[in-house]
Amino acid sequence: MLSWDQTPALATMRRCRAWVEIDLGALQHNVQQLTQHLGTKAALMAVVKADAYGHGAIAVAQTALSSGASWLGVATVPEGVELREAGIDAPILIMGAVNSAEEVGAIARWQLQPTLVSPKQALIFSEALGQRSGSPLPVHLKIDTGMSRLGFDWSQAPEFVQFVQRLPHLQIASVYSHLATADDPDSTVLRQQQQRYETAIAQIAAQGLAHPQHHLANSAATLGYPDLHYDLVRVGLALYGLYPAPHLQPTLLLKPVMQVKARITHLKTIQPGTGVSYGHSFVATQPMQIAVVGIGYADGVPRALSNQMSVLVQGQRVAQIGAITMDQMMIDVTQVPNLQEGSVVTLLGQEGSETLTADQWATLTGTISWEI
Ligand SMILES: *Cc1c(COP(=O)(O)O)cnc(C)c1O
Repeated sequence: MLSWDQTPALATMRRCRAWVEIDLGALQHNVQQLTQHLGTKAALMAVVKADAYGHGAIAVAQTALSSGASWLGVATVPEGVELREAGIDAPILIMGAVNSAEEVGAIARWQLQPTLVSPKQALIFSEALGQRSGSPLPVHLKIDTGMSRLGFDWSQAPEFVQFVQRLPHLQIASVYSHLATADDPDSTVLRQQQQRYETAIAQIAAQGLAHPQHHLANSAATLGYPDLHYDLVRVGLALYGLYPAPHLQPTLLLKPVMQVKARITHLKTIQPGTGVSYGHSFVATQPMQIAVVGIGYADGVPRALSNQMSVLVQGQRVAQIGAITMDQMMIDVTQVPNLQEGSVVTLLGQEGSETLTADQWATLTGTISWEI
């Protein structure tokens, strides 16, 4: 049976309304910038969870690997399987916690590498793997140094390592942790987490336990704190050309990978006093030329940007007006000549000297560029 996505006519028609453009050249540039910044000491893990932050996991993973990344990081087992099914054979770390024997089976079958956050979970893995033959599974032990999300308490890390080391079928590949405030210009909490992490790994080493790899840094720590690179850095946001915080911008020149575009579907002139869209939150005070654009909140443009955002048309920045609706929005094109149905509007990206970024949307809507 042909799925909808495989119907050629539909694939073409989707481009009639709204689409994203992914610049794999920009991704390659960002990966190269990051690997240069890392030097020879630390390896780069490309974090491609959540469909590579919406950019398309398979294409991003392939390009990142061919540009200098050596690891991939995902959140879930199905995300890892998707990459394997696409023929990608680089090491893949599952950063989320896995608790079901079914998923353990899939991890072994697809040679994925899980994160273990507790002795109980390590037992589930060891027992489930005991049913199969084969070489020991590389596992990554996560310790909680202050994020209070996944991980075993840092002060008991040596006991955790020792416990896992005694279990059959498991081989400890790394001991890692995650930072809670790496994008904050105030590094107090980060330094406390670093200290806890280093205390834990020193104790583990002193006990003559495994010689695991060490990793702690996300994008912000990779850009801002070279002393936190250790053996490996786990970079998501920066791959996609975005900065975790304004003060980290001077470190590297990154290029945004995603552009969001849509077409004008309808043009009209409205008279003073005319309300626009649901609720009439915008009312014309003078005669205006407005355009309807075929993209809305169902396509991922936050409705909270209504009457706040700008778009680019023929290199000019113009205002969006009225409430953004499910699949359409209106823009003020009074000052833009020669528009037609089918003309392209840029919502995120660059036209001429004007640039619209996910950071701007995030600031306007009170969220972070990761979510955008
Ligand atoms: C998502 C994630 C990252 C990447 O974070 P960015 O800030 O996007 O670089 C790194 N490590 C872990 C554990 C994560 O969950």
